[in-house]
Amino acid sequence: MSIEPQPAFKKLESSLRLKQLMASHFYELDEAARRGSHKIAWCSSVGPAELLRSLGFLVYFPENHAALLGATRKATDYIPAANAIGYSPEICSYLTSDIGACIMGETPLSRAYPGITRVPPPDVLVYNTNQCRAVKDWFQWYSRKFRVPCLGVQSFRQMDEVTTLHVAAISTQLQQLIPPLQEISGTRFDIDRLRETIELSRQCSELWGQVLETAAHRPSPLTFFDGTIHMGPAVIARGTQSAVDYYIFLLAELRQRIEAGVAAVNHENCRIYWEGMPIWGKLRELAALFLRLKTCVVASTYCNSWIFSDLDPRDPFESMARAYTELFITRADACKERYIKQMVEFYRIDGILFHEAKTCPDNSNSLYGMPQRLYQQLGIPTVVIHGDLNDLRLFSEEQAVTRLEAFIEQVQG
Ligand code: SF4
Repeated sequence: MSIEPQPAFKKLESSLRLKQLMASHFYELDEAARRGSHKIAWCSSVGPAELLRSLGFLVYFPENHAALLGATRKATDYIPAANAIGYSPEICSYLTSDIGACIMGETPLSRAYPGITRVPPPDVLVYNTNQCRAVKDWFQWYSRKFRVPCLGVQSFRQMDEVTTLHVAAISTQLQQLIPPLQEISGTRFDIDRLRETIELSRQCSELWGQVLETAAHRPSPLTFFDGTIHMGPAVIARGTQSAVDYYIFLLAELRQRIEAGVAAVNHENCRIYWEGMPIWGKLRELAALFLRLKTCVVASTYCNSWIFSDLDPRDPFESMARAYTELFITRADACKERYIKQMVEFYRIDGILFHEAKTCPDNSNSLYGMPQRLYQQLGIPTVVIHGDLNDLRLFSEEQAVTRLEAFIEQVQG
Protein backbone atom coordinates (compact mmCIF):
# COMPACT_ATOMS: atom_id res chain seq x y z
CA MET A 1 0.00 0.00 0.00
CA SER A 2 1.46 3.37 -0.91
CA ILE A 3 1.24 6.23 1.48
CA GLU A 4 0.57 9.57 -0.17
CA PRO A 5 3.25 12.00 1.02
CA GLN A 6 1.96 15.10 2.82
CA PRO A 7 2.46 18.21 0.68
CA ALA A 8 5.34 20.30 1.98
CA PHE A 9 5.25 23.91 3.17
CA LYS A 10 7.38 26.16 1.00
CA LYS A 11 9.14 28.44 3.37
CA LEU A 12 10.14 31.81 1.98
CA GLU A 13 13.86 32.54 2.13
CA SER A 14 12.99 35.98 3.48
CA SER A 15 11.91 34.29 6.72
CA LEU A 16 15.47 34.40 8.05
CA ARG A 17 15.66 38.12 7.44
CA LEU A 18 12.27 38.55 9.05
CA LYS A 19 13.49 36.76 12.18
CA GLN A 20 16.48 39.09 12.35
CA LEU A 21 14.27 42.17 11.99
CA MET A 22 11.90 41.00 14.72
CA ALA A 23 14.83 40.14 17.01
CA SER A 24 16.43 43.58 16.57
CA HIS A 25 13.08 45.21 17.31
CA PHE A 26 12.70 43.43 20.64
CA TYR A 27 16.38 43.67 21.65
CA GLU A 28 16.38 47.39 20.91
CA LEU A 29 13.33 47.87 23.12
CA ASP A 30 14.83 45.70 25.86
CA GLU A 31 18.10 47.60 25.79
CA ALA A 32 16.28 50.96 25.91
CA ALA A 33 14.25 49.77 28.89
CA ARG A 34 17.38 48.63 30.74
CA ARG A 35 19.47 51.70 30.04
CA GLY A 36 16.72 54.27 29.95
CA SER A 37 18.21 55.48 26.65
CA HIS A 38 14.85 56.04 24.92
CA LYS A 39 11.32 56.57 26.09
CA ILE A 40 9.00 53.73 25.19
CA ALA A 41 5.48 54.19 23.86
CA TRP A 42 2.99 51.37 23.61
CA CYS A 43 0.76 51.84 20.61
CA SER A 44 -2.34 50.12 19.28
CA SER A 45 -1.66 48.38 15.98
CA VAL A 46 -3.40 51.01 13.88
CA GLY A 47 -2.49 53.85 16.20
CA PRO A 48 -0.33 56.92 15.42
CA ALA A 49 3.04 55.11 15.35
CA GLU A 50 4.52 57.72 12.99
CA LEU A 51 3.88 60.56 15.44
CA LEU A 52 5.44 58.55 18.27
CA ARG A 53 8.55 57.67 16.29
CA SER A 54 8.99 61.26 15.15
CA LEU A 55 9.09 62.28 18.82
CA GLY A 56 11.93 59.83 19.48
CA PHE A 57 9.91 57.07 21.17
CA LEU A 58 10.65 53.41 20.56
CA VAL A 59 7.31 51.82 19.86
CA TYR A 60 5.99 48.54 21.25
CA PHE A 61 2.72 46.97 20.08
CA PRO A 62 0.79 44.91 22.66
CA GLU A 63 -1.35 43.35 19.90
CA ASN A 64 1.78 41.89 18.34
CA HIS A 65 2.68 40.42 21.74
CA ALA A 66 -0.84 39.06 22.10
CA ALA A 67 -0.66 37.43 18.66
CA LEU A 68 2.57 35.81 19.80
CA LEU A 69 0.74 34.43 22.84
CA GLY A 70 -1.83 32.98 20.45
CA ALA A 71 0.70 31.57 17.99
CA THR A 72 2.69 29.90 20.77
CA ARG A 73 -0.57 28.49 22.19
CA LYS A 74 0.05 30.03 25.59
CA ALA A 75 -2.96 32.34 25.50
CA THR A 76 -5.36 29.93 27.19
CA ASP A 77 -2.93 29.52 30.13
CA TYR A 78 -3.18 33.24 30.80
CA ILE A 79 -6.79 34.19 30.01
CA PRO A 80 -8.12 32.89 33.37
CA ALA A 81 -5.81 35.26 35.27
CA ALA A 82 -7.48 38.23 33.57
CA ASN A 83 -10.94 36.69 34.08
CA ALA A 84 -10.15 36.43 37.79
CA ILE A 85 -9.71 40.21 38.06
CA GLY A 86 -12.98 40.91 36.28
CA TYR A 87 -12.16 40.90 32.57
CA SER A 88 -14.82 38.72 31.04
CA PRO A 89 -14.08 35.54 29.03
CA GLU A 90 -16.43 37.07 26.42
CA ILE A 91 -14.18 40.03 25.58
CA CYS A 92 -11.13 40.29 23.32
CA SER A 93 -8.83 37.34 23.97
CA TYR A 94 -5.84 39.45 22.94
CA LEU A 95 -6.64 41.69 25.89
CA THR A 96 -7.32 38.87 28.37
CA SER A 97 -4.32 36.75 27.37
CA ASP A 98 -1.96 39.72 27.35
CA ILE A 99 -3.09 41.09 30.69
CA GLY A 100 -3.13 37.54 32.09
CA ALA A 101 0.48 36.99 30.97
CA CYS A 102 1.47 40.25 32.64
CA ILE A 103 -0.26 39.22 35.90
CA MET A 104 1.58 35.89 35.78
CA GLY A 105 4.89 37.59 34.94
CA GLU A 106 5.50 35.65 31.74
CA THR A 107 6.21 36.46 28.12
CA PRO A 108 7.01 34.33 25.06
CA LEU A 109 9.72 36.90 24.26
CA SER A 110 11.94 35.21 26.89
CA ARG A 111 11.89 31.98 24.97
CA ALA A 112 12.31 33.51 21.56
CA TYR A 113 14.98 36.01 22.54
CA PRO A 114 17.48 34.83 25.17
CA GLY A 115 18.26 37.53 27.71
CA ILE A 116 14.86 39.24 27.48
CA THR A 117 12.96 38.62 30.69
CA ARG A 118 10.02 40.98 30.40
CA VAL A 119 8.14 43.18 28.00
CA PRO A 120 9.59 46.71 27.86
CA PRO A 121 7.67 48.85 30.39
CA PRO A 122 5.89 51.85 28.86
CA ASP A 123 6.43 55.55 29.52
CA VAL A 124 3.12 56.24 27.78
CA LEU A 125 0.33 54.27 26.10
CA VAL A 126 -1.37 55.59 22.97
CA TYR A 127 -4.43 54.01 21.38
CA ASN A 128 -6.85 54.71 18.59
CA THR A 129 -10.37 53.32 19.00
CA ASN A 130 -10.67 52.98 15.20
CA GLN A 131 -10.55 49.19 15.57
CA CYS A 132 -12.63 48.73 18.74
CA ARG A 133 -13.11 49.90 22.31
CA ALA A 134 -11.10 46.98 23.73
CA VAL A 135 -7.76 48.62 22.99
CA LYS A 136 -8.68 51.56 25.22
CA ASP A 137 -9.71 49.33 28.13
CA TRP A 138 -6.64 47.19 27.59
CA PHE A 139 -4.25 50.16 27.62
CA GLN A 140 -5.99 51.77 30.59
CA TRP A 141 -5.28 48.65 32.66
CA TYR A 142 -1.57 49.00 31.88
CA SER A 143 -1.74 52.72 32.54
CA ARG A 144 -2.97 51.99 36.08
CA LYS A 145 -0.45 49.20 36.57
CA PHE A 146 2.62 51.14 35.40
CA ARG A 147 1.29 54.52 36.58
CA VAL A 148 1.97 56.15 33.24
CA PRO A 149 -0.34 58.28 31.07
CA CYS A 150 -2.74 56.74 28.60
CA LEU A 151 -3.64 58.98 25.66
CA GLY A 152 -5.77 58.28 22.66
CA VAL A 153 -7.82 59.14 19.65
CA GLN A 154 -11.57 58.48 19.72
CA SER A 155 -12.53 57.41 16.24
CA PHE A 156 -15.69 57.22 14.21
CA ARG A 157 -17.24 53.86 13.46
CA GLN A 158 -19.66 52.38 10.97
CA MET A 159 -19.09 55.00 8.27
CA ASP A 160 -20.15 54.38 4.71
CA GLU A 161 -18.17 57.38 3.55
CA VAL A 162 -15.28 59.09 5.30
CA THR A 163 -15.94 62.82 4.98
CA THR A 164 -13.70 65.86 5.41
CA LEU A 165 -15.44 66.46 8.75
CA HIS A 166 -14.37 63.02 10.02
CA VAL A 167 -10.82 63.62 8.83
CA ALA A 168 -10.64 67.10 10.37
CA ALA A 169 -11.86 65.81 13.74
CA ILE A 170 -9.27 63.03 13.86
CA SER A 171 -6.51 65.31 12.59
CA THR A 172 -7.28 67.73 15.46
CA GLN A 173 -7.11 64.91 17.99
CA LEU A 174 -3.76 63.77 16.61
CA GLN A 175 -2.38 67.30 16.92
CA GLN A 176 -3.67 67.54 20.46
CA LEU A 177 -1.45 64.58 21.38
CA ILE A 178 1.70 66.58 20.65
CA PRO A 179 2.04 68.68 23.85
CA PRO A 180 1.71 65.76 26.33
CA LEU A 181 3.87 63.48 24.17
CA GLN A 182 6.57 66.18 23.89
CA GLU A 183 6.62 66.48 27.62
CA ILE A 184 6.94 62.72 28.17
CA SER A 185 9.58 62.22 25.48
CA GLY A 186 11.55 65.35 26.29
CA THR A 187 11.87 65.92 22.53
CA ARG A 188 10.50 68.92 20.66
CA PHE A 189 8.07 68.11 17.91
CA ASP A 190 9.65 68.53 14.50
CA ILE A 191 7.32 68.52 11.49
CA ASP A 192 10.14 67.50 9.14
CA ARG A 193 10.91 64.46 11.23
CA LEU A 194 7.24 63.53 11.13
CA ARG A 195 7.22 63.95 7.35
CA GLU A 196 10.25 61.66 7.04
CA THR A 197 8.60 59.01 9.22
CA ILE A 198 5.37 59.22 7.25
CA GLU A 199 7.31 58.87 4.02
CA LEU A 200 8.93 55.68 5.33
CA SER A 201 5.54 54.39 6.45
CA ARG A 202 4.07 55.22 3.07
CA GLN A 203 6.83 53.29 1.31
CA CYS A 204 6.38 50.35 3.68
CA SER A 205 2.62 50.35 3.01
CA GLU A 206 3.08 50.53 -0.73
CA LEU A 207 5.58 47.67 -0.75
CA TRP A 208 3.44 45.56 1.58
CA GLY A 209 0.52 46.16 -0.78
CA GLN A 210 2.64 44.99 -3.73
CA VAL A 211 3.71 41.91 -1.79
CA LEU A 212 0.08 40.97 -1.21
CA GLU A 213 -0.83 41.72 -4.82
CA THR A 214 1.59 39.07 -6.07
CA ALA A 215 -1.07 36.59 -4.94
CA ALA A 216 -3.23 37.77 -7.85
CA HIS A 217 -0.94 35.67 -10.02
CA ARG A 218 -2.19 32.18 -10.73
CA PRO A 219 -0.74 30.11 -9.13
CA SER A 220 -0.13 32.38 -6.18
CA PRO A 221 3.41 32.59 -4.80
CA LEU A 222 2.15 33.15 -1.26
CA THR A 223 -0.77 32.30 0.99
CA PHE A 224 -2.71 34.13 3.68
CA PHE A 225 -0.78 32.04 6.21
CA ASP A 226 2.54 33.38 4.88
CA GLY A 227 1.00 36.85 4.98
CA THR A 228 0.12 36.63 8.69
CA ILE A 229 3.80 36.01 9.47
CA HIS A 230 5.38 38.39 6.96
CA MET A 231 3.10 41.28 7.89
CA GLY A 232 5.13 41.66 11.12
CA PRO A 233 7.28 44.57 9.88
CA ALA A 234 4.23 46.45 8.53
CA VAL A 235 2.81 46.35 12.06
CA ILE A 236 5.81 46.82 14.33
CA ALA A 237 8.32 48.64 12.13
CA ARG A 238 6.34 50.89 9.80
CA GLY A 239 7.97 54.29 9.72
CA THR A 240 11.48 52.75 9.72
CA GLN A 241 13.96 52.06 6.92
CA SER A 242 14.33 48.42 8.02
CA ALA A 243 10.66 47.69 7.22
CA VAL A 244 11.08 49.25 3.77
CA ASP A 245 14.26 47.23 3.11
CA TYR A 246 12.56 44.06 4.26
CA TYR A 247 9.64 44.40 1.86
CA ILE A 248 11.93 45.22 -1.07
CA PHE A 249 13.66 41.90 -0.36
CA LEU A 250 10.45 39.91 0.11
CA LEU A 251 8.86 41.39 -3.00
CA ALA A 252 11.90 40.40 -5.08
CA GLU A 253 11.67 36.85 -3.77
CA LEU A 254 7.97 36.60 -4.62
CA ARG A 255 8.53 38.00 -8.11
CA GLN A 256 11.26 35.42 -8.59
CA ARG A 257 8.81 32.73 -7.53
CA ILE A 258 6.33 33.97 -10.12
CA GLU A 259 8.98 33.98 -12.84
CA ALA A 260 10.10 30.49 -11.92
CA GLY A 261 6.49 29.27 -11.76
CA VAL A 262 6.76 28.35 -8.07
CA ALA A 263 3.33 27.98 -6.50
CA ALA A 264 2.80 28.34 -2.75
CA VAL A 265 0.28 25.50 -3.09
CA ASN A 266 1.14 22.76 -5.56
CA HIS A 267 -1.55 22.18 -8.20
CA GLU A 268 -3.54 25.16 -6.91
CA ASN A 269 -7.07 24.66 -8.17
CA CYS A 270 -9.13 26.77 -5.82
CA ARG A 271 -8.67 30.32 -4.53
CA ILE A 272 -10.21 31.48 -1.27
CA TYR A 273 -10.64 34.83 0.50
CA TRP A 274 -10.20 34.83 4.31
CA GLU A 275 -12.43 37.35 6.05
CA GLY A 276 -11.76 37.91 9.76
CA MET A 277 -9.00 37.33 12.26
CA PRO A 278 -6.43 34.55 11.96
CA ILE A 279 -6.70 31.65 14.39
CA TRP A 280 -3.17 32.14 15.65
CA GLY A 281 -2.73 28.82 17.43
CA LYS A 282 -3.88 26.84 14.38
CA LEU A 283 -2.12 28.56 11.51
CA ARG A 284 0.04 25.55 10.75
CA GLU A 285 -2.81 23.02 10.83
CA LEU A 286 -5.03 25.18 8.64
CA ALA A 287 -2.22 25.87 6.18
CA ALA A 288 -1.62 22.10 5.95
CA LEU A 289 -5.33 21.44 5.41
CA PHE A 290 -5.51 23.86 2.50
CA LEU A 291 -2.31 22.44 0.99
CA ARG A 292 -3.87 19.01 1.09
CA LEU A 293 -7.03 20.38 -0.54
CA LYS A 294 -4.92 22.07 -3.27
CA THR A 295 -6.52 25.31 -2.23
CA CYS A 296 -4.76 28.60 -1.81
CA VAL A 297 -6.10 31.21 0.58
CA VAL A 298 -4.83 34.04 -1.58
CA ALA A 299 -6.14 37.17 0.10
CA SER A 300 -7.62 38.47 3.32
CA THR A 301 -9.05 41.55 4.90
CA TYR A 302 -6.67 41.11 7.81
CA CYS A 303 -3.36 41.31 5.93
CA ASN A 304 -4.67 44.13 3.75
CA SER A 305 -5.55 46.20 6.80
CA TRP A 306 -1.93 47.37 7.08
CA ILE A 307 -1.90 49.10 3.71
CA PHE A 308 -2.27 52.81 4.44
CA SER A 309 -2.38 54.25 0.95
CA ASP A 310 -3.42 57.71 2.12
CA LEU A 311 -0.26 58.50 4.07
CA ASP A 312 1.31 61.58 2.50
CA PRO A 313 4.27 63.49 3.97
CA ARG A 314 3.09 66.71 2.29
CA ASP A 315 -0.01 66.68 4.44
CA PRO A 316 1.04 64.80 7.58
CA PHE A 317 -1.91 65.18 9.97
CA GLU A 318 -4.76 65.03 7.48
CA SER A 319 -3.22 62.09 5.68
CA MET A 320 -2.62 60.18 8.94
CA ALA A 321 -6.18 60.98 9.98
CA ARG A 322 -7.54 59.68 6.69
CA ALA A 323 -5.31 56.60 6.62
CA TYR A 324 -6.33 55.59 10.14
CA THR A 325 -10.01 56.36 9.64
CA GLU A 326 -10.61 54.74 6.28
CA LEU A 327 -9.81 51.27 7.60
CA PHE A 328 -12.07 48.38 6.65
CA ILE A 329 -12.94 47.72 10.30
CA THR A 330 -14.37 51.22 10.84
CA ARG A 331 -16.76 51.03 7.90
CA ALA A 332 -20.43 50.26 7.39
CA ASP A 333 -21.37 46.88 5.93
CA ALA A 334 -22.25 48.29 2.49
CA CYS A 335 -18.75 49.72 2.18
CA LYS A 336 -17.16 46.49 3.43
CA GLU A 337 -19.14 44.53 0.86
CA ARG A 338 -17.96 46.79 -1.96
CA TYR A 339 -14.40 46.25 -0.78
CA ILE A 340 -14.72 42.46 -0.65
CA LYS A 341 -16.29 42.44 -4.12
CA GLN A 342 -13.24 44.28 -5.49
CA MET A 343 -10.94 41.79 -3.77
CA VAL A 344 -12.90 38.87 -5.20
CA GLU A 345 -12.52 40.27 -8.72
CA PHE A 346 -8.88 41.27 -8.38
CA TYR A 347 -7.70 37.97 -6.86
CA ARG A 348 -10.13 35.81 -8.89
CA ILE A 349 -11.60 34.27 -5.77
CA ASP A 350 -13.72 31.12 -5.91
CA GLY A 351 -15.16 31.23 -2.40
CA ILE A 352 -15.16 33.33 0.78
CA LEU A 353 -14.41 31.99 4.25
CA PHE A 354 -15.69 34.02 7.21
CA HIS A 355 -13.99 33.39 10.52
CA GLU A 356 -16.46 34.33 13.25
CA ALA A 357 -14.15 35.06 16.17
CA LYS A 358 -16.11 34.74 19.37
CA THR A 359 -14.21 37.41 21.31
CA CYS A 360 -13.77 39.89 18.45
CA PRO A 361 -17.16 40.89 17.04
CA ASP A 362 -15.52 43.93 15.40
CA ASN A 363 -13.56 41.64 13.10
CA SER A 364 -16.40 39.12 12.59
CA ASN A 365 -18.46 40.17 9.62
CA SER A 366 -20.68 37.13 9.45
CA LEU A 367 -22.92 38.30 12.30
CA TYR A 368 -25.36 40.44 10.31
CA GLY A 369 -25.99 38.49 7.11
CA MET A 370 -22.98 39.54 5.04
CA PRO A 371 -22.07 36.02 3.80
CA GLN A 372 -25.59 35.55 2.47
CA ARG A 373 -25.66 38.98 0.82
CA LEU A 374 -22.30 38.41 -0.84
CA TYR A 375 -23.40 35.00 -2.04
CA GLN A 376 -26.46 36.59 -3.67
CA GLN A 377 -24.43 39.38 -5.24
CA LEU A 378 -21.36 37.43 -6.34
CA GLY A 379 -22.73 33.95 -6.85
CA ILE A 380 -19.73 32.31 -5.18
CA PRO A 381 -20.02 30.07 -2.12
CA THR A 382 -19.33 31.38 1.37
CA VAL A 383 -18.73 29.52 4.60
CA VAL A 384 -18.57 30.54 8.26
CA ILE A 385 -16.23 28.84 10.70
CA HIS A 386 -16.55 29.52 14.41
CA GLY A 387 -13.44 30.04 16.43
CA ASP A 388 -11.31 32.70 17.99
CA LEU A 389 -8.08 34.56 17.50
CA ASN A 390 -6.43 33.39 20.73
CA ASP A 391 -8.83 31.36 22.85
CA LEU A 392 -8.51 27.89 21.35
CA ARG A 393 -11.20 26.57 23.70
CA LEU A 394 -13.63 28.30 21.34
CA PHE A 395 -12.41 26.49 18.25
CA SER A 396 -13.30 22.92 17.33
CA GLU A 397 -10.70 21.80 14.81
CA GLU A 398 -12.66 18.69 13.93
CA GLN A 399 -15.81 20.66 13.10
CA ALA A 400 -13.88 23.27 11.15
CA VAL A 401 -12.05 20.67 9.07
CA THR A 402 -15.30 18.87 8.20
CA ARG A 403 -16.96 22.13 7.25
CA LEU A 404 -14.00 23.33 5.20
CA GLU A 405 -13.61 20.05 3.34
CA ALA A 406 -17.29 20.16 2.36
CA PHE A 407 -16.96 23.83 1.40
CA ILE A 408 -13.95 23.26 -0.85
CA GLU A 409 -15.72 20.34 -2.49
CA GLN A 410 -18.66 22.66 -3.21
CA VAL A 411 -16.35 25.39 -4.56
CA GLN A 412 -14.50 22.97 -6.79
CA GLY A 413 -17.86 21.84 -8.09
S1 SF4 B 1 -10.08 44.45 17.03
FE1 SF4 B 1 -10.64 42.53 18.03
S2 SF4 B 1 -8.71 41.48 18.39
FE2 SF4 B 1 -8.21 43.60 17.96
S3 SF4 B 1 -8.11 44.56 19.97
FE3 SF4 B 1 -10.18 44.85 19.21
S4 SF4 B 1 -11.40 43.14 20.02
FE4 SF4 B 1 -9.20 42.64 20.24
